[in-house]
Amino acid sequence: MTDGCDLELINLTKKYGDALAVDQINARFDAGKYVCLLGPSGCGKSSTLRMIAGHEAVTGGSVVLDGFDVSHLPPAKRGTAMMFQNYALFPHLTVRDNVAFSLRMKGENKSSRHAIANELLELVDMTALADRLPSQLSGGQQQRVALARALVTKPKVLLLDEPLSALDPFLRIRMRAELKKLQRELGITFIHVTHGQDEALALGDELVVMNNAVIEQSGPAREVWSAPKTEFVARFMGGHNVITLGGTKVALRADDVTFGKTGLAATITSVEYQGNHVALTTRTEAGDEVLALLADTTFFDTPKNPGDAVLLAWDEGRLHRLQA
Ligand code: ADP
Ligand code: MG
Repeated sequence: MTDGCDLELINLTKKYGDALAVDQINARFDAGKYVCLLGPSGCGKSSTLRMIAGHEAVTGGSVVLDGFDVSHLPPAKRGTAMMFQNYALFPHLTVRDNVAFSLRMKGENKSSRHAIANELLELVDMTALADRLPSQLSGGQQQRVALARALVTKPKVLLLDEPLSALDPFLRIRMRAELKKLQRELGITFIHVTHGQDEALALGDELVVMNNAVIEQSGPAREVWSAPKTEFVARFMGGHNVITLGGTKVALRADDVTFGKTGLAATITSVEYQGNHVALTTRTEAGDEVLALLADTTFFDTPKNPGDAVLLAWDEGRLHRLQA
């Protein structure tokens, strides 16, 4: 397979009429990274991905791959490939012919394109079903075929738009492990759009969090999760409280909240058992909702009930000041 390459987005902008879908975003991705682009519905993720792929014209700015501005090249000339949300397999072609399709378009002869398709079907573990039609496959199998088809052009960057959203929750978790393994084996850059923070954390070396057409924060997954810069990122990534203390807004991880002998006065509003954790929702006198995630053993040493008064405590070093 080909090596990965640097991908850079410079002031990338998309307008549909007057509506701004992507507003001058800047990002740089090292070769061979698994990048997750996440954010709520409508924030501009798919538009960004389609501009990288060349399926959508850029309104402004550029997409730079390996040092070349590819913004105005057709999709097939960019070194990128896209896997669509609904897989978009041709219903009348066999699995093998679906995978070989773009090679046929390029004029590759039958034995050579079948040899390449077979190699990719082997990679996604679909060799045994190569002669079936898409309608004779399960959702997970169709997804593997779509992956093989996207990889047949030997892209340097694979773009995946919500590739797991059509699968049931059990299969989704299995396929996400397969995607991660495949990306490691190929060593190429994957850019995977999702609106799920758990999926992004499970897969992404790097996260890019978008909101309202802009990038709110990007960086290594652990950094984005543990040090959110804005209230939006803290709330969207989950697991954090946003509290107003002395006139400033701070983020505090739910698993960093304890009950002390001194601290911020609050009342417990709900108690939820989650197996290895117990989630206690509290309300402070100022009206902030603060979630405390306690290890089950800690909770059951001194159980609490809704209505109980508690004092919320934490290590000062664990507070993150948020940008206004
Ligand atoms: P996401 O993938 O994050 O849900 P999109 O990139 O699909 O977001 O959409 C961003 C914004 O652009 C949304 O407000 C959406 O309605 C709008 N949009 C997307 N595609 C089109 C289009 N082809 N024509 C007009 N507006 C569009
Ligand atoms: Mg989308």
